[in-house]
Amino acid sequence: MSGWVQVAGLGPGDDGMVTREVHDAICDATDIVGYIPYVRRIAPRPGLTLHESDNRVEIDRAKHALDMAAQGHRVVVVSSGDPGVFAMASALFEALEDGPIEWLDLDIRILPGVTAMLAAAARLGAPLGHDFCAINLSDNLKPWALIETRLRLAAQAGFAMAFYNPRSKSRPHQFGRALEILREECGGSTLISFAKDVTKPSQNLVTIPLSEATVDMADMRTVVIVGNQDTRQIGRFVYTPRRVE
Ligand code: SAH
Repeated sequence: MSGWVQVAGLGPGDDGMVTREVHDAICDATDIVGYIPYVRRIAPRPGLTLHESDNRVEIDRAKHALDMAAQGHRVVVVSSGDPGVFAMASALFEALEDGPIEWLDLDIRILPGVTAMLAAAARLGAPLGHDFCAINLSDNLKPWALIETRLRLAAQAGFAMAFYNPRSKSRPHQFGRALEILREECGGSTLISFAKDVTKPSQNLVTIPLSEATVDMADMRTVVIVGNQDTRQIGRFVYTPRRVE
């Protein structure tokens, strides 16, 4: 029996946003591997083993998946959103780089999903309709100084921006610093949107000028979108025009 690993994105929460390709992979799998809340989204069934693990053990989880595939299992590693956006796909390749050379011959595929910023942008209107970038505000895997530099330069360059992992209990002050930098570089009238639990029943969207934003508006279930200088509100929608003079 030949095994495989597919690293799949489950989308932002709504089952309607799980792609057909991801759905089929889950149906074919013998094993599901992932962070506890993502694995809990998969319906148990006979013949399917669910392997839940904690958040910070990504490389171990990836090794486990590759090891099972080498033994003939059909393994789906689940991520929320898209697996290539601040998630498990890179972790899998890191484990592959460190692992036995035979693993390079395994059947490995990455199945894309709807990432949080795109789901949030769609619910808001089209705030990412012109050039934009995505920045992970967590300094778990990179120095905070680098985050500040990227934030400042992206703001100076006029990108709209999406921020993942904006604020956690273990680093409560950094989001305040990020807001300070944004106000300095973009001005207080630039629009900022806080999109929490996008596509879930508890979804909450708030759009305000940067001058009114406070740190408590963001948490780990929120993706934050900051517009560029042309981003505007029309009725209940937020959009960024495609034309720049
Ligand atoms: N791979 C995921 C991102 C993982 S990082 C993706 O592509 O979406 C985790 C961060 O994603 C969270 O801190 C939050 O900023 C964002 N996020 C994920 N799902 C979300 C949702 N349904 N609503 C709002 N933000 C979400």
